[in-house]
Amino acid sequence: MNRDPRAKQTLEPLLFEKGSPGRRGYSLPPADVPAADAAALYGKESTREAVEGFPEISEIDVVRHYTRLSRQNYGVDVGMYPLGSCTMKYNPKLNEWAARLPEFARSHPLQPVEISQGLLELMYRLEQILCEVSGMARVTLQPAAGAQGELTGMLMVRAYQKAKGNPRKKVLIPDTAHGTNPASCTLCDYEVVSMKTGPTGLLEPREVAAHMDEEVAALMLTNPNTCGLFEKHIVEIAEIVHAKGGLVYFDGANLNALMGVAKPGHRGVDVMHFNLHKTFSTPHGGGGPGSGPVGVAEPLVRYLPTPIVNHREGAYVIEELPESIGKVKSFNGHVGMHIRAYAFALALGGEGLADSSRHAVLNANYLLAKLRDVYHAPYPGPVMHECILTDRKQNAHGVKTLDIAKRLMDYGYHPPTIYFPLVVPGALMIEPTESESLETLDAFADSMRAIAAEAADWPELVTGAPFTTPVARLDEVTAARKPILRWLPE
Ligand SMILES: *Cc1c(COP(=O)(O)O)cnc(C)c1O
Repeated sequence: MNRDPRAKQTLEPLLFEKGSPGRRGYSLPPADVPAADAAALYGKESTREAVEGFPEISEIDVVRHYTRLSRQNYGVDVGMYPLGSCTMKYNPKLNEWAARLPEFARSHPLQPVEISQGLLELMYRLEQILCEVSGMARVTLQPAAGAQGELTGMLMVRAYQKAKGNPRKKVLIPDTAHGTNPASCTLCDYEVVSMKTGPTGLLEPREVAAHMDEEVAALMLTNPNTCGLFEKHIVEIAEIVHAKGGLVYFDGANLNALMGVAKPGHRGVDVMHFNLHKTFSTPHGGGGPGSGPVGVAEPLVRYLPTPIVNHREGAYVIEELPESIGKVKSFNGHVGMHIRAYAFALALGGEGLADSSRHAVLNANYLLAKLRDVYHAPYPGPVMHECILTDRKQNAHGVKTLDIAKRLMDYGYHPPTIYFPLVVPGALMIEPTESESLETLDAFADSMRAIAAEAADWPELVTGAPFTTPVARLDEVTAARKPILRWLPE
């Protein structure tokens, strides 16, 4: 990314808009056998003479097109990516090396277990690592993402409650929750009851007690919560829920603040999901494969998705569980992500994982301390692994959170998460992660401070941003609601 506002990138045309009739990506010598009639061989419906508007271009045009597009892309390999709640930490290349080892990469899920021992051992050991980090009894690696992990967890909650005689009707969720929490409950046929968090940003035990009854199947809690605060009443809250026969679901997406420091399984948690693509540095973004393992306490082990990997008589085996909720993903889920997460955990070791959490927390507090005089901070800290600022001070100059985020792009950063959590108006949610050095954090803070100064002195510079990107303000609502995914010739 270029920090010079004069260096505006140009919009890359579509391949369809390029080329010249007759231009080819390759040329073949004339055929020395008679041409076959494809339509006669395969039927007219399977063949066509020409595709209308199909681009005719050379190989170098195609290569340049995609290379230019890739240079307009922003990723964690380009710069700091402080997208709160998403933990966009660096993905060490060691993980990629491990996942590409041909013995792993070329194995097939249907090959016999006798020749899959290495992969099964890796999955078994990764499960043990996740159990150790979380304090849960067992973990399924099958779910493809955090949201699918939530669904898997809630299906197990339902199976557990049903076996007790009543699947129950409701799930309690605080108003700070990630949108996937209520969505997962609704998919599981549970009614969502929203609980209010107070001005402290924390869920209070009396709010839980007021909503808890014998029709509540579970409470879902994110800790640290989406305000970046540790829910310090979690043990008391778990006792209230358990006393009426409910279960505690722990959204572990923010485990990057706790790893090796506190274990949810020791705080009354019955079921939780991990986001390997957040905490364990497997790549994410662009909808690429993720992994959302789910850990359970002993009473829920019988309901885990199958197959599960066990170690018996010196060999790794794949086994079914008679009371399992069934499969949530084919085979064992995204095994490539398991390899990357395992490589990450082994490279750091137990103390290293704890250190990465400590540094993630330190970095967030450092940024908060450097910025809270120029931006309003609803929770002045200390915070956990992410901090929240708002646009309250900048509003006086007509500058809003969206403008600040757009202006950051001109400074060469991916913007933070904005307008989330919903309980904080105009939120800018900044999660630096442990990957960033002091110099990078200082440079980011300097940019944020420069934008605050611009907002006061020359607000049009902020409200008009970005100036360096090929396109500036997009109609994001229409793009999401009425996407045009296919280009058709006029
Ligand atoms: C990211 C996130 C999720 C959802 O995880 P995905 O892997 O994106 O499906 C759920 N809860 C919280 C708090 C998150 O940050």
